[in-house]
Amino acid sequence: MSAKYQLPCACGRSVAIEPKQAGESVVCECGAVLLAPTMLKMATLEVASEEPALAPSKIGPWGGGQRMELLGGVLLVAATTLAILAVLLLRPVSRYEAVGPERIHESFQHLSPWQSWRAWESMKIGIDPRPDKRYVRQSRNYFSGLGVAAVLAIAGVGLVVEGMRVAKGKRGWIG
Ligand SMILES: [Zn+2]
Repeated sequence: MSAKYQLPCACGRSVAIEPKQAGESVVCECGAVLLAPTMLKMATLEVASEEPALAPSKIGPWGGGQRMELLGGVLLVAATTLAILAVLLLRPVSRYEAVGPERIHESFQHLSPWQSWRAWESMKIGIDPRPDKRYVRQSRNYFSGLGVAAVLAIAGVGLVVEGMRVAKGKRGWIG
């Protein structure tokens, strides 16, 4: 790794430059465009330390990028958990799935005529194409759960990607 030099800026900060950047314009953190000096003049500049203390002392060992990555990871785990829970607990079960035909037949044998008639009436409602309210409610919960999980997953992926980008950019800027 070639030596780096600190090119001071009017704002008080300095920009780390490499000899190969001699004569090129570099941008300071403040946005000012600085002209890197020639190689000869660059040698008179302060040598940038290999492991600068600026970032860790300010942000700590966990930089903004890593925090984002961590948060993204937590969100992804939460999204996965939520999706699994939604499938396990909220998956809608239609009346026909919940009550098998044998069960219905069996239960009819223990019913009084009046109860049979009531049961038959309720079954007609079940067969009726009108929406099964319980099923609709379950479906709504189920798809809300999956929707929230999807949003969390997208946010998690976004944070991880952004965190990696930030962390990489910082590493690139320092080293
Ligand atoms: Zn500056």
